[in-house]
Amino acid sequence: MGRDYTLYAIFKGLVIYLLPFAVLGWLLNIFWPALAIALALKLAWHYYFQFRLSRWLWDSRTMLPPKALGLWTDIYDGIYRTLRRNQFRRRALTTLLKRFRQASEALPDAAIVMQEDGTLIWSNKLAQIYFGLQWPSDSGIRITNLIRQPRFVDYFNAADFSESIILGSPAHSSMELDIRIMPYADNQYLLVAQDVTQLRKLERMRKDFVANVSHELKTPLTVMQGYLEMLEDPERMPVKQLHKAIGDMQSQTERMQNMVSQLLELSRIESSSPDSFSHEVNVSQLIATVLREVELLNAEKQHHIDLDLDADLSVYGSEEKLRTVIMNLVNNAIKYTPSGGELRISWKRKRLGAEFAIKDNGPGIAAKHQQRLTERFYRVDKDRNSATGGTGLGLSIVKHALDYHRSHLQLYSIEGQGSRFSFLLPSELVVSAKPDSE
Ligand code: ADP
Repeated sequence: MGRDYTLYAIFKGLVIYLLPFAVLGWLLNIFWPALAIALALKLAWHYYFQFRLSRWLWDSRTMLPPKALGLWTDIYDGIYRTLRRNQFRRRALTTLLKRFRQASEALPDAAIVMQEDGTLIWSNKLAQIYFGLQWPSDSGIRITNLIRQPRFVDYFNAADFSESIILGSPAHSSMELDIRIMPYADNQYLLVAQDVTQLRKLERMRKDFVANVSHELKTPLTVMQGYLEMLEDPERMPVKQLHKAIGDMQSQTERMQNMVSQLLELSRIESSSPDSFSHEVNVSQLIATVLREVELLNAEKQHHIDLDLDADLSVYGSEEKLRTVIMNLVNNAIKYTPSGGELRISWKRKRLGAEFAIKDNGPGIAAKHQQRLTERFYRVDKDRNSATGGTGLGLSIVKHALDYHRSHLQLYSIEGQGSRFSFLLPSELVVSAKPDSE
């Protein structure tokens, strides 16, 4: 466009403007008054556009500049362009900020930005949940006033963030957080917290598991070692004691074998991938097979077993896993009920699926133990159960096999009166669901 705003050009423009007034004034012999009028008109013209400019800038709501003439057209245009450019920049920045916020909200971790002294600048939603922050009212407050655990305060004040720290969440007592602080931008810190509750639980479970297995194997091994030491000199051992030693060693070996095979079974069930449940299982037949297998055990105990089975009721599932479940429950009922007991096994359609139940009139289980029965190695009476060869793994296998079938173990038991263990397989696993029978 080639706008010329040198002093020379402005002066030239003024001379050209004044020239006709000067000539006319000279001809009419009013040279100075004519020039004064010309200058006054010019001034009034400028004042007018200046006034319009300030009206537009301060009072008008529109971005479009008012109409102007001459030099003022360029001034208005210039301001308009600068405003537009700033508006674009602001929009771009707002979009960027919005995207950054969205990205930080999508993070699976809590994030807090703070000053070097711990003053909170910004936090994402997860941080507000994990640390119980009230946003924006907590903005500007020091982190050590919000997370007051002495371990965290010491960690923050020491300013050595080469390692993370694991803390309980101030807002949720059962939640454990892995907190890491990183220097960020100029004199700022970025705090990232990850929920490690599940991870820590698994870690503890793994440690407990190893400790339990070692402990469980240690007892039979110690017994065997003791006998083996005695057997170093078999001649001096009375025959009766020798028989007892061999008998005990045999039962301890059986116990260890039993435990190892149960552990293998547990890990097999735990690691099996979900089934499409295309295989039909006739549970009544399965119960009959299990009962044949435990005949010998029951012959010792002489329990009366009453059956109430729906022979046509089949389910989709894993035959092997359902057999394990039923076998464990039947085995326990026979094992823990004193001789000559009454057992009742039922397999029936219910409103929400198909239910297996086994009821006995054995010793029952005290309420305080009931929640923990499916934990690995959990036994109600360790001494008595060691004598019965129990490992405390049976019901934990049952739990996993039932998880696999989207079901869970239910127990109704009154100490001294007996127990009823049951599980309900959901309707979607029942083959050709008939109308409700209950
Ligand atoms: P175990 O190998 O010891 O039988 P389980 O996991 O099968 O382990 O059972 C856990 C505990 O639950 C047993 O030690 C026993 O004390 C108790 N229990 C299981 N079934 C019964 C039952 N029918 N009657 C009484 N107690 C039972």
